[in-house]
Formats: sequence, structure tokens, C-alpha cells
Amino acid sequence: MKRLSLILFIILFALPVFAQDPQPEEKCWLRRIFSWPTTVVHDTIYIYVDEEDDYDDDEDMVENESSGSIPMPFDTLNTVDKYRKVILFDNGSWLYFDIPKPDLPDFISNDHWMTDQVHAYYDVNVKDLPEEVDLILCDSVHGWHIPGFGRMVSTYKLRKGHKHQGVDLGVPFGEPIYAAFDGIVRVALPTKLTGGYGNVVVLRHANGLETYYGHMSQYIVETDDIVKAGDIIGYCGSTGRSTGPHLHFETRYMGQSFDPERIFDFEKGALRDTTFTLKKHYFSIYSHEGQSDKESEVAATQVPPKHVTYTVKKGDTLGGIAKKHHTTVKKICKANNISEKKTLKIGQKLIIP
Ligand SMILES: [Zn+2]
Repeated sequence: MKRLSLILFIILFALPVFAQDPQPEEKCWLRRIFSWPTTVVHDTIYIYVDEEDDYDDDEDMVENESSGSIPMPFDTLNTVDKYRKVILFDNGSWLYFDIPKPDLPDFISNDHWMTDQVHAYYDVNVKDLPEEVDLILCDSVHGWHIPGFGRMVSTYKLRKGHKHQGVDLGVPFGEPIYAAFDGIVRVALPTKLTGGYGNVVVLRHANGLETYYGHMSQYIVETDDIVKAGDIIGYCGSTGRSTGPHLHFETRYMGQSFDPERIFDFEKGALRDTTFTLKKHYFSIYSHEGQSDKESEVAATQVPPKHVTYTVKKGDTLGGIAKKHHTTVKKICKANNISEKKTLKIGQKLIIP
């Protein structure tokens, strides 16, 4: 009997709710039940206005209210529009909440907007870039944040024959990684899709800069997310080509890297200045913070050594490969950061210095 009255109750009270549905194209009420909340519209929006002149005392005000309890939000749902969320209230009602659109120029997410690969500006060469460009890094509205708290463990330089195009910060495992500036997430990709970078996030900023955050244990943002400087985007780890937990942090403009220490003083945990003049010669791996512009220009004329990459075939030995390329086992091991006793795998790529 109890069950029957419950069913009767549902039929009597639930049906009128669906009948009020303002979306006429939805004819089947059963379908509406299963696609809640997108088709059930409760439009009770409570607006509390302080209008003392209209009421002589508070008691009248309470009597005039049809409902005594204030609905409390308890969850939010995403919609297909990333700037629109659904807020669910504990009384079963809900409403749309529009997030303010980011204060980012359109071109930022139109030009070279590649979300499935780390590097987007594959067709831009250093020679195509202006001699210098003035960048505003932060102002009274847009802040900055150190990307991770840890000592500098490796700088922007040519390292063992490789271009190390960022800095390594010894952030402890699991500690937060922060957005350095306000921006939009272009890339948030897992280690299996990024090779050496591991779990990586790339943010694009309104001034055209991009910041890269590599080797994370996990990231908690996704492509198109808007972030503010200081937002946590993930946690430090050792994914990808990494020998221990650290943050690999890069700064790039139109795909070209330059020394992040030109922007941040990582030892002091400070931004060097609110504006930054980026010069073309900074894009060389030999150009770094601490040099005078003259020294940087001279350094930038050096050409990094070209390496041959060799793919290991069946029957290959380190000695055989070294002999074939007129080099030594020691040099190959140093360039590839491997032990001389390492067993080679077929298909493995080796840098031949
Ligand atoms: Zn690194």
C-alpha cells in the first residue's frame, strides 16, 4: 500500500513539474527524467533586497515570503560551454552560472592553437621574429607567481650536447606547480604523448609568451582552462626523461625558447621586472641571464653542434656503433647519459656526438 501511494504521489506531483518544462521540443517526460537537469527548469531565484522603507517591521517581511528556507548550492556541473556551469541547490532547483570570459585577446587562442602537441610554432624560425619585443609581464590586475618552490638544479644551456631549453627547479615530489602568469591552457598532455616532457602543461599568456611545465606527477587542468597566476596546475613528479622529481620550466615566444632566468630570479623567488624586453639573440642556447647584451650577441653567433641520430639495429654493440661513426663508446655514453655497460634495445635512438 505504501508503495502504491508513493507511485501515486510521484504521478500526481512529478508530472506537473515536467509539464512546466519550457522546452517544447522535449515531448517524452520519461526522457526528461533521465536527462536531468538539462530539461527540468526550476526558476526559483531568490533575490533579497534591503528595502527598509517598504516594510514597517521584519515580521511582515517574513510572512510575505512564500518560502522560509534559503536554497544552498551543493554541486556544480559542466556544460558544453566551458564558460557556463550549472549550480545545483539542495532543494532540487538549479541555475546557470556564467563565468566571466577571460581578458585575453582573440588572437591568443586562434594563432597556432595546437592542443595535441607540445610545440605549436613549428613553422616559425628565429629569423622571422622581430629584433626585439617589449612584453608586459604583470600589472595591477594581472599578477605573477614562482612556478615551483625549489632550488635551481640545472640552468638554460647546452647540456651533454643537448639543448636544455629551460631551467630545472628541485621542487619536492608532490608539491604544487603554479601558473606563472594569467593565461589559458593550450596543452595538458600525458607522458605517453609528450616523450621527454612527461606529464606537461603549456600555458599561453596574453603577451604572447608561453610557459611550459614538465615532468609533473599529475596535472589538474585541461586545454582551454583559464588560469590566474598562482593557480595550482599540477604537482611535481619525475615523468618523462627525468632522473628524479623536479620541475622543468621553459619560457618561449613564438615557439623559441629563452632563459627563464631572464624573467625570474629563482634564488630570490622574485620577478625581475614588470616589463621585459625580449631580444632576438636571447633565443640562442648560448645566451643567458647574467651576460651583457654584447656578450649575449657574441654568444648567439655560436652554432650548436649537429648530432647524428642512430637507430639501434639487431646485433649492434656500442663498440661497433662507435667504430662505424669514428667516435668512442665513452663519447656516445656521455652524450646519451647512459652507462657503458648498458644493454642496447633494438629501435633505441642514440645521439652520435
Ligand atoms: Zn629540464
